[in-house]
Amino acid sequence: MIVVTGATGHLGQHVVAGLLETVPADQLAVVVRDAAKAADLAERGVDVRVADYSRPETLKGVFGSGDKVLLISGSEVGQRLPQHTAVIDAAKEAGVGLLAYTSVLGGPAAEFQLAEEHIATERYLIDSGLPYALLRNGWYHENYTENLGPVLAAGGVLTSVGEGRVASASRPDFAAAAVAVLTGEGHENQVYELSGDTAWNFEEYAAEVSRQAGRELPVNRVPAETYLEILVGSGLPEAFAGILVDVDGGIERGLLATRTGDLARLIGRPTTPIADAIAAGLKAA
Ligand code: NDP
Repeated sequence: MIVVTGATGHLGQHVVAGLLETVPADQLAVVVRDAAKAADLAERGVDVRVADYSRPETLKGVFGSGDKVLLISGSEVGQRLPQHTAVIDAAKEAGVGLLAYTSVLGGPAAEFQLAEEHIATERYLIDSGLPYALLRNGWYHENYTENLGPVLAAGGVLTSVGEGRVASASRPDFAAAAVAVLTGEGHENQVYELSGDTAWNFEEYAAEVSRQAGRELPVNRVPAETYLEILVGSGLPEAFAGILVDVDGGIERGLLATRTGDLARLIGRPTTPIADAIAAGLKAA
């Protein structure tokens, strides 16, 4: 059985759709916290199992011996280490055959706050003795391109990143890599540094958005403190705004620009250009 957690999230939906193209539905199970969100999957014959990362007792019995499991990292920053360890404990108790985890590009080298829970999860997973696959995901294009409304409204791209580059790829690209690992062979105890084929800077990003929008949307570079003030002023909780500004510092230091080619190799095609995600983002904005 292939089991996908976080299956009703943005990445998980792409993973499940990709799996259903290659694996019969009755060989697929999803772990979700809200069964209603997976009703369409249940209808297609996928086994829907309800559990919450935060309630270890609900994770008992959701995995079986020999399963290939994808643990999609949780979205509740600050809660994720105990949540992920609970999933890993349940997987270990069941004796799963592979646990693939969506980590962060660079693993232990990712020196920014948001990466800390991923690094600790990787360590716990490796120490668990389970066969693992580390899918060290770089940044999604969509982190930027799903937020083009405010860019158009403000008349420019606001950032505290200096010359830093981002080797982003699309969510469907990262999902396809997870599908390749879950359906392929020989991925046990492998580490994949997954990122886009191209590393762009904010000048280039703003130029492409401007070209497609048909008007000049320049980069507005501000110091980190100013960016923090602006984010908090726009209603973001201070702690989370601080984490985002800290990520920008990591980008400036080149931590999300790493390109190894692992993603293109795993998915067997070039990664999606950011121009495609910008086009989709502008359509939706
Ligand atoms: P989403 O927020 O769309 O999905 C998160 C998934 O995790 C959802 O299915 C959610 O369930 C599930 N989940 C969260 N908390 C729990 C819980 N306590 N118990 C069970 N399930 C839970 O994020 P994405 O799909 O876009 O990204 C996947 C993960 O990747 C994120 O959670 C985050 O860790 C990380 N990430 C990576 C980024 C990158 O650029 N590389 C950017 C943003 C996040 P439900 O559907 O019920 O909400």
